[in-house]
Amino acid sequence: MFYERIQSIRCALPSTCIVCGQVADGEHSICNDCGCELPKLEDCCRRCGIELNGRLVKGSCCTRCQLSPPAFDSCTAAFPYVSPIDKLVADFKFSARFDIGYSLSRVLACRFNAYYIGTAKPELLLPVPLHKNRLGSRGFNQASEICNVLSEYCAVATSHSSLIKIQNTQPQISMSSATARKKNLRKAFAVRQLDGLTGVTHIALIDDVVTTMTTTQTISRMLREQQDCRIDVWCLARTL
Ligand SMILES: [Zn+2]
Ligand SMILES: [Zn+2]
Repeated sequence: MFYERIQSIRCALPSTCIVCGQVADGEHSICNDCGCELPKLEDCCRRCGIELNGRLVKGSCCTRCQLSPPAFDSCTAAFPYVSPIDKLVADFKFSARFDIGYSLSRVLACRFNAYYIGTAKPELLLPVPLHKNRLGSRGFNQASEICNVLSEYCAVATSHSSLIKIQNTQPQISMSSATARKKNLRKAFAVRQLDGLTGVTHIALIDDVVTTMTTTQTISRMLREQQDCRIDVWCLARTL
């Protein structure tokens, strides 16, 4: 549905770069100049996805993950959450710029496919859910939109109904401490359709931005209480 919507937008409009507004060739709607200049994440912790900045051996874990590994197995982002990615993600989420969501998700899809070359891909994509009130006011779940693009280009099915957010919590960004963030999300999520997860041993959890990891950790812990599975987190952008 999302893909068809984008296709119809593309047919109706000239293809312009989502960053600079100039004419963009290629499928990503990012012109060559902007594509070269977009910030990139390199040399990240293989567990939590944070940039290592050359402090540790490539492919290793950051000190925090060595001391206390997260509840998921890996976290990979397409971009660091810096300018202009922060504004692009905000335009996608808060101004329903599906062309931007599509273009950023295509970059993520390329990374996703490259990551699993020679190894098994996840069997199922699960978008981090929104509470029905927020879904109602925004009109769409950005994580579900990202999943649609990944499903299309990575050939992995999405379950949009397995996870549900049952409490309309405060935005995590407004919480001052790690304890407050954890408390805010306690019992906020539930698995709605357990049968959809039966036999699935490798899940990809999809979000737009991973910041403190509280949301992804909470959901990963909940999923692991239900069944033994590998969980890889994928997001458009990761805070540094
Ligand atoms: Zn451009
Ligand atoms: Zn780490």
